[in-house]
Amino acid sequence: ARGALSRADLIRDKAYIDGKWLEADGGASIDVDDPFTGEIIGRAPSVSEDQAKAAISSAEKAFPGWAKELTRHRGAILRRWFELVMDHQEDLARLITLENGKPLKEARAEVAYGAGFIEFYADEAGRIFGETIPSPVEGRRLLLEPEPIGVCAAITPWNFPLAMLTRKAAPALAAGCTMVAKPASQTPLSAYALAVLAEEAGLPPGVLNVVTGKAGMIGGLLTASSAVRKISFTGSTEIGAKLMEASAPSIKRLSLELGGNAPLLIFDDADLETAVETALVAKFRNSGQSCIAANRIYAQKGIYEKFLAAFAARVDGLVLGDGFDEKSDIGPLIDEPGVAKVREHLDEAVEGGAKVLAGAGASDGRLMPPTLLRDVAPDALLTREETFGPLAGVIPFETAEDGVRLANDTPFGLAAYLCSEDPATIARVGRAIESGMVGINTGLISTAVVPFGGVKMSGLGREGSSHGLMEYLNLKYLCHAGL
Ligand code: ADP
Repeated sequence: ARGALSRADLIRDKAYIDGKWLEADGGASIDVDDPFTGEIIGRAPSVSEDQAKAAISSAEKAFPGWAKELTRHRGAILRRWFELVMDHQEDLARLITLENGKPLKEARAEVAYGAGFIEFYADEAGRIFGETIPSPVEGRRLLLEPEPIGVCAAITPWNFPLAMLTRKAAPALAAGCTMVAKPASQTPLSAYALAVLAEEAGLPPGVLNVVTGKAGMIGGLLTASSAVRKISFTGSTEIGAKLMEASAPSIKRLSLELGGNAPLLIFDDADLETAVETALVAKFRNSGQSCIAANRIYAQKGIYEKFLAAFAARVDGLVLGDGFDEKSDIGPLIDEPGVAKVREHLDEAVEGGAKVLAGAGASDGRLMPPTLLRDVAPDALLTREETFGPLAGVIPFETAEDGVRLANDTPFGLAAYLCSEDPATIARVGRAIESGMVGINTGLISTAVVPFGGVKMSGLGREGSSHGLMEYLNLKYLCHAGL
């Protein structure tokens, strides 16, 4: 059958609390649909307040033991978890396509990317080192000892349902923290499948709990609880700001990976092939539903026409369809409001003078044709809001200074991209762009070994790399006197 898994028990309809699989109180559930067919493919539990509180208590109860566990034991469990994820990579990819809609080849890439965090932090667990600081006075030894911060909450979005969770859970567990995870209601199944494999890997009960249900209720309990010491959130700036406000009374640590509005700057001296490839990947990967998607493409006057012609040919060649069809490049969007937003951005840009170079035909259900617009007005809606769909708008610019000014004209700053063959332009513009990450001659920048995160209203903190581990540790300073 469509989306059938070789291990059907990876699909769960129960919450994972304190190492037990529990039906929601009263049997409440959330329907999960297949974005391509619109059919219900699973049910996730909608937990009660008591159950959400039980998840927090179980993480609290499990914390002291997990924090004390030898780092190499924590690392070994993460390593087994990584191996189990890789053993089941095809099933997990099918599950992602089933609940999210993305093409299978992209779902497979997500599993590899997501597993990369577990692998990286399995090794990193054994490298949580302290420091000694030479004392400015005699007879003292000054020590720094990293300690896990406690119970952490992870709230994750639907666009990368597996990787957004491993990116938070792996460093948290490696550091010795315990976790309550709340995946998005549209795509809860991947998170529960990860929990099945974590349990098989030998993760003790309560170390990782997964609950789904009313986001406001669960988010409210997680932020209000003084036991929860940190919230790690990936999602909209609006909800991120709410969580930050709700976390203020209990002074929680926060990692927020919020909206982006990434610019791509293509300079006259760019290599044409590289520029087209960069634009294609940066815009259309995940059907445009990525927080680092190039939302605004600026091409310098001298390359503008050549770039548009070559880019249009590639956009025309993108295959729209069922994620389970191996030929598909672009799958359905997550839901109808997602399609409506892309169409609104398209219509507004065309009213403002933009011309259609490719796509723009009628949408079919949640299938939105990959579309390319030229001569987009610099203040078009699609340059100000995240489009989150397969719509590329190209805007001409004159000088490098103009390009940088346009790129920075946004309250967001997650990713940015630039294409140029001139080292001086690359160095200058790379520095001048206000963003947490810069892709230079590439639209593919994410991997577990680098710190991912934004500046300005795109968020706080970094995920991935050894820097991502520090987000789950406190540095205790011990001052040993009288020596
Ligand atoms: P998106 O546009 O990606 O759906 P959201 O910020 O709405 O972005 O959702 C990201 C995650 O935040 C999801 O898991 C969602 O269920 C959750 N969420 C939504 N509203 C709240 C809230 N009030 N409190 C806590 N989490 C929330």
